[in-house]
Amino acid sequence: MYQSDKLHEECGIVGVYGNPDAANLVYLGLYALQHRGQEASGIVTYDGKSFYQEKGTGLVADIFNVKKLGGLKGSASIGHNRYSTAGGAGLENVQPLMVNYSQGTIAMGHNGNLVNADTLREELEAEGAIFQSSVDSEVILHLLARSSASSLIERIVGGLVTRVRGAYSLLFLTQEGLIGVRDPYGVRPLLLGKLKDGYVLASESCVFDLIGATRVRDIAPGEVVKINEDGVTSYKPFPPAQIAQCVFEFIYFARPDSVIFSQSVCEIRKRLGQELAREARVDADIVIAVPDSGVLAALGFATAAKIPYDVGLIRNHYVGRTFIEPKEAIRNFGVKVKLNAVQSVLEGKRVVVVDDSIVRGTTSQKIVKMIRAAGAKEIHVRISSPPIFSPCFYGIDTPTHKELIASSHTVEQIRKHLTADSLRYLSTDGMFRAVYGNTEATNKHYCTACFTGKYPIPLFEEKSRQLSLFETLTSSIIMDRAN
Ligand code: SF4
Repeated sequence: MYQSDKLHEECGIVGVYGNPDAANLVYLGLYALQHRGQEASGIVTYDGKSFYQEKGTGLVADIFNVKKLGGLKGSASIGHNRYSTAGGAGLENVQPLMVNYSQGTIAMGHNGNLVNADTLREELEAEGAIFQSSVDSEVILHLLARSSASSLIERIVGGLVTRVRGAYSLLFLTQEGLIGVRDPYGVRPLLLGKLKDGYVLASESCVFDLIGATRVRDIAPGEVVKINEDGVTSYKPFPPAQIAQCVFEFIYFARPDSVIFSQSVCEIRKRLGQELAREARVDADIVIAVPDSGVLAALGFATAAKIPYDVGLIRNHYVGRTFIEPKEAIRNFGVKVKLNAVQSVLEGKRVVVVDDSIVRGTTSQKIVKMIRAAGAKEIHVRISSPPIFSPCFYGIDTPTHKELIASSHTVEQIRKHLTADSLRYLSTDGMFRAVYGNTEATNKHYCTACFTGKYPIPLFEEKSRQLSLFETLTSSIIMDRAN
């Protein structure tokens, strides 16, 4: 399987209330959020009497067709794209999860990751709960089904406030309406949009652009919204927490045409490149990007460094996740199938190549060699984020600590591994100057754990997969990354 050397976002969610085309709109929304999960998708609708569900594995456009969408009746709907990390890839794990309980039916889609799901699951199973899936999110449904609270909002919030820990942006579809929840740290984005007489909730604003909705605002960290025929009702049930929105959404995960955390992803990516040029300019003939994720940072770098931007690498957009490298002997085809160097642009040039991040370093090394083979005279790699040396436990698929090249190599050692003439990363201060658009900025709103090892949501679970990653992290010697 061809796997790019990037961190992977885990999920995207969309909900529509008060539109007769709810299922079709959610389908389009999932299509816009395909980058947040390519493994499986599902849609649930409600028509005032019954719930309807379709789900499958693969890309959104391959799972749903006119017939399936036609069977999803009703003016309220939620949908989910999945890239599995917690739980396996089986159909039972495809969200939205839907259950019947004493008060009716409820469907739920989750973007994020719970850090105490295994502990909660063991406790619930000891009390007799039978789980239908292996995804961490199902514990939330069990907690609300077992709650003795009288209102649905209290049932949902009760378990979240008192027992669930982690990152979660959630959508619930119930007989009472559409409900959206963002955890008190606000790790993953969730936005409210307006579409004619109805409303939309989505992970990113690119959904609103596609379906013609207007972006209203972010759901605030720790906010719960209930949307029904009375409109939008907001609740703030959580104790205050230090906001810790995922800064990597700006660097790589979110679509550049989205506005998340009330900021334009496109503008921040360009500013990341500008800050990088201020910190790590080098004399060169051209600036090129590793497409597509490095393009905006490369443009920012080129502008600030006053070096011409050119297109030195071309990406084949039609390589699917199922691409199979046929034989060991030609294993290196992986990157070449996806990227190719433009000899006429690169030959004899001193080249700055900008990318957003280095995870394992495998792809970056192949890219440097490819540019060298195309005739570049010098290759200066510039990365528009700080080195990643800690795994993410909040909804991002990260390799183990030891697989992250920056966890065991200095910058100079990574440069040698890549065979580049120079390598510089953006500093964390530079990252915050770009994110806040302010030279004096200090971080008050963002999680930076993968760059700093400072985890804003405590990791206390003893038996989870996450803790095994954490133990690897704490028992390893973190080398001097400043070099
Ligand atoms: S650890 Fe990194 S990827 Fe995970 S939420 Fe924090 S900033 Fe985002």
